[in-house]
Amino acid sequence: MTTTATGAVPRADGQPADGQPASPDAVEDAALGASPTGEGASGEGAVGSGPAAPGDASVPGQRFVGSLSPSRAADFVSCPLKYRFRVVDRLPEPPSPAATRGTMVHSVLERLFDLPPAGRTPEAAVELLPAAWADLLAREPELAAMFPDGEALEAWLASARELLAGYFALEDPRRLAPAARELYVEHVLGSGLRLRGYVDRLDEATTPDGLALRVVDYKTGRSPGPAFEGTALFQMRFYALLLWRIRGVVPRELRLYYLGDRTWLRVTPDESDLLATERRVQALWAAIDRAHRTGDWRATPSKLCGWCDHQSRCPAFGGTPPPLPVAVGAGGPLVDDADPAVCEAAG
Ligand code: SF4
Repeated sequence: MTTTATGAVPRADGQPADGQPASPDAVEDAALGASPTGEGASGEGAVGSGPAAPGDASVPGQRFVGSLSPSRAADFVSCPLKYRFRVVDRLPEPPSPAATRGTMVHSVLERLFDLPPAGRTPEAAVELLPAAWADLLAREPELAAMFPDGEALEAWLASARELLAGYFALEDPRRLAPAARELYVEHVLGSGLRLRGYVDRLDEATTPDGLALRVVDYKTGRSPGPAFEGTALFQMRFYALLLWRIRGVVPRELRLYYLGDRTWLRVTPDESDLLATERRVQALWAAIDRAHRTGDWRATPSKLCGWCDHQSRCPAFGGTPPPLPVAVGAGGPLVDDADPAVCEAAG
């Protein structure tokens, strides 16, 4: 049975933060927080620790029809044309301050667990920010152009510090020993569809009931309204399905932390949930494949258009899409990029 909840996140020891409700599963929190497996447990199969480049973990001779990550699946659900622009046309998108801030905050939260537990303080997290920003700039020097002056840059950095403060309002990292961070996971279904993505954090512990896994994802946006919670949790179930197929264990808990408004969502999946997720993923892929074969990528306007970089070429906004790339239109497998999960502005 699946349950979802939203609200302020309990501390990892299961004790409520000031004025907030206690964890519904304090014992599990404590067990998962004090992982006996320690840092760097990498699991097996296609699970890898660290932001390694995605590889093809399919078995030689196995049929491969394409690949799908949770973020691109969400793109197709919200607007097939946006999916086309990103995956089929592979059109470049300019960096945005919100997405770049998400990447930077994720990097800080990943590095935070390199510190000894006692040193994982809010001040230490803030001290990690300049290095994370410098690394991003070294990789993509054009990011500097997002800020017209030092004042704009400082305001942006201040907003990142605020998000880090939001993280510490939700969780005490001194109590945790993640098994993996920025974990690349990949699995090829029997249909030949490769599922893959990056898990922000995986906590694991050996309990009397066996191995317990907790999947944690950080969002630097605000929590969605009730109507969109299902979409947000689909991503988590997608990861849970992957881990179940790879590790043979249904994750005990999936957590989404929204640093923007300091709230959380959680779900405790079971096998029937994950089987339903697999059916949904397969149905989604069938729809993507149909669009790919027919070239019918429908524009589906919504409030998310405000975050879309492709309005100028979108028929819903009077634009004209470019011709489909010939090689891809001829029927090659669709492969999406499965970037590390980053909080998007709409998130
Ligand atoms: S502007 Fe809106 S309708 Fe057009 S491609 Fe982007 S998300 Fe889709």
